[in-house]
Order: sequence, then structure tokens, then C-alpha cells
Amino acid sequence: MRARLSFRHGVHPPEHKELTAGVPVRRMPYPEEIVLPLRQHTGKPARPLVEPGDRVERGDKIGEADGFVSVPIHASSAGTVKEIGLWPHPDGSMAEAIRITVDAFSPQIPRPRIIPHWDGLTPDQVVKAVQRAGVVGLGGAAFPTHVKLLPPDDVVVDTLIVNGAECEPYLTTDHRVMTEYPERVQFGIRIMMHTLGVERAIIGVEKNKPDAIETLERTLPDDLDVTVQGLTVKYPQGYEKMLIHALTGRDVPPGKLPMHVGVVVQNVASLACIAEVFETGLPLIERVVTVTGPGLRRPSNLIVPVGAKIRDVLEFCGGLLDEATEIVFGGPMMGGSQPDVDAPIIKSTTGIVVLTKKESRPRRTYPCIKCGHCLDACPVFLNPSLLGILAQAGRFEEMEEADLATCMLCGCCSYVCPSNIPLSQMFALAKAGAQRRKQQAA
Ligand code: SF4
Ligand code: SF4
Repeated sequence: MRARLSFRHGVHPPEHKELTAGVPVRRMPYPEEIVLPLRQHTGKPARPLVEPGDRVERGDKIGEADGFVSVPIHASSAGTVKEIGLWPHPDGSMAEAIRITVDAFSPQIPRPRIIPHWDGLTPDQVVKAVQRAGVVGLGGAAFPTHVKLLPPDDVVVDTLIVNGAECEPYLTTDHRVMTEYPERVQFGIRIMMHTLGVERAIIGVEKNKPDAIETLERTLPDDLDVTVQGLTVKYPQGYEKMLIHALTGRDVPPGKLPMHVGVVVQNVASLACIAEVFETGLPLIERVVTVTGPGLRRPSNLIVPVGAKIRDVLEFCGGLLDEATEIVFGGPMMGGSQPDVDAPIIKSTTGIVVLTKKESRPRRTYPCIKCGHCLDACPVFLNPSLLGILAQAGRFEEMEEADLATCMLCGCCSYVCPSNIPLSQMFALAKAGAQRRKQQAA
């Protein structure tokens, strides 16, 4: 089917990427303490393998995967385990976490390790190596990557889609990865294509990143069918279903996965991370994070050790300006307001955005005026107004009947609502409640 390079509905929020789009990635120094939650991915949290007082080196496994849809956790710094207990999680809850006092004098050299040679490995062995390295989707969803590499036998995957859309305002993490580490992205694509047995890969990049498109085109492999496709700039272009539709014309039916239409989607930063596993043998212990916003003194793109606290990251970026009013974890469309600066960066943290009053969402809400803007914005053709009324009335079962499961929590409806109704936030709570009810019933 023909590619359309876009999708229907969606919104055009101001991009604000100019603050960091041209700022090269630099490495943040190690803070005094690292906090590693055992729950950093979709699926079951890891199980701790260490105890207070244990000495760890950078890259050591400190939490074991608990089942197939789970990944291990590794120490992102050399140091001593201080405590295992509840700690503020970036999702706003308290979660079990391993606190490590960083060894200030350590050269941070990992223990010697065997570097797996990817093309001598069977797909199963690659999958195991990726799981052992704790790799998850770095675009925000944190779905364990190895699970996507093992489609069931009755599913035929023919295309790898590489997600370089990065449609969230302010964020430039993927942009910098594509322009500064293109060979790593291409190497990750090669490993993925080998493992999935697919012959075609398409890299989708929004057209507001011409330097990334140019760099990727320049580094394309001669011996593989990999193409780069510029995409219309529109939110949420980077969502799997939107991206698949834009690049292949295929539609993922409700309740189905991309693999059911022959596609696996991987984010560019996740592919660069897979490449690093096979280049260095190191697990996922650091990532590129955009730290930005008009309320921050020195907007930056940083390599941050997983587990660094928000306060340390902000301090390294010069601290907050007096006008700062809100810290948002992730982008402003999908991300949540973060009240606790002791919460750590986790594997799925794409960015920290510091807003001022001018950009913060007004707190006062008004009743629905039935304007229909939310229906026009919803990329999956739901009725957010109706869902919002049901959520406010606590009629959660009716929400499920109204197709809440299809909602991607993209935030388009909240963005356009003139009554400031926090629709997508209400839907996120309703989804979490539905999930809990399902688990209790099981
Ligand atoms: S948050 Fe859900 S209901 Fe709202 S626009 Fe996105 S998909 Fe539609
Ligand atoms: S955009 Fe807001 S006010 Fe308009 S119909 Fe949707 S919920 Fe109601």
C-alpha cells in the first residue's frame, strides 16, 4: 500500500525545539548518589540481587528480570549499596529502589566482559543478549525490546520501522542521537533486521530535522534495503499506529499490535542502545536526555547515568530561573508534572522540561461546552468529550464500552479543550483503574 507520510486529525503545538536542537550532547558528571527503581519498564519489576553494604562496579547487574516481559537493572555507577526501599518514582508513586552511594574516586571502568558477536548468534541468542542488557524502548514507553524481537510463529513481519519522528515539543534527544551517532543507529538497524529476518527498514523522521535526515541518508548501508522518509510535522506523528499508517498505509486494528500488520517499530535511541550492547558489551546504564525549557538557565542534551536525581541534572544545567513554575517529565503533551526533584531519571526518561507560567497549563477548568474540538483532534477517532463526562461520573465500565482501550493518552484532546478539562490525565487514571480491576479479577 502507498505511504501517506501523515495521518488524520492530530494537533500542531509550538515546537520549541530551537532551545536544544543544535546543542551537542555532553556527558554529565557522576552525582553523589544514584537511585535505581526496580520498576523502570512495562511488565514485571526486577528483583533485587544486592544488599545494603554491597560494593558494585559500573555495569554490574543489581536486579534480575522477573519473567519474560521484564528486564534486569544494572548499576550505572561504581559505589556502595546504601539502602533498598521506597523512593519517589517519576510516575508520582513511591516505588522500591536501590540507592547507591557513588564512589567519587572510581575511574568508573566496568568489569571485563565478553562482547557478543552479533552475526554469529542465532535470533534467540540475540534476543537473550538484548534482554540481559536490560534494553527497553527509549522513546518513552519502556517496553522490553527483546519481546518485540520474538514475534509468534503465526505472525509474518516484513518491515522494520525506525522511529525518528520525535514529535513531542521541546525534546531533541532522538534528533541529537540521529545527527551525532548515525553509524550506531545504522548498526542497530542491521542487528534488528538480522534478528527479525526482515528485508526492509524505513526510518521515519519529521521534516523539521533536515540535518538528521541528511546524516542518516549519508550513512545508509549499501547492502541493505534501508530508506529514510521525511514525515509531515504533526503531533502525535511518533506514535506507533500513526507512524505505521504514514509510512506503509497499513492500519493496526484496535486491540492488535504492529506485528499483526507485519511491522515492528523501534525508536532510534533504542537501536543505538542495541548497537552499543554489541559494540561494548555494556548494558543500558545511561541515556541521552534533553533538559530544557524557558525556566532553565542552560538548556542541554546530556548523557545521564540512569538513576541520577532530577535535582542533580537541573543543577548541572545551571539551575532554574526565578520564573520557573513547573517541571515536566517527558514532553509537555504526554509528560506529567513532577513535584519531587529527588525522583530519578529512569530508562524511559526522554526529557525534563522546565516551564514558566506562560507555558504551564491553566489550573482552572470549566464545564464541557460541547464544542467538538477534542473529536476533531483525536487521532484514533474517539469521543473524548463523552469519555470525559463518563470519567467525571466514575462510570468506568461505560468508558471501556466507549473504547477507552484504544486511547493512546496522546494528550491532543486536553491540548485543544477550551475548558481546560484534563481529559487525557483522567483517561490515564481510568486506564490504570481498569488494569487494577483486571489483575484483581485474574
Ligand atoms: S488522549 Fe486518547 S482520547 Fe484524547 S486525543 Fe489522544 S487518543 Fe484521543
Ligand atoms: S474540547 Fe473540551 S469543551 Fe470541547 S467538546 Fe471536548 S471536552 Fe467539551
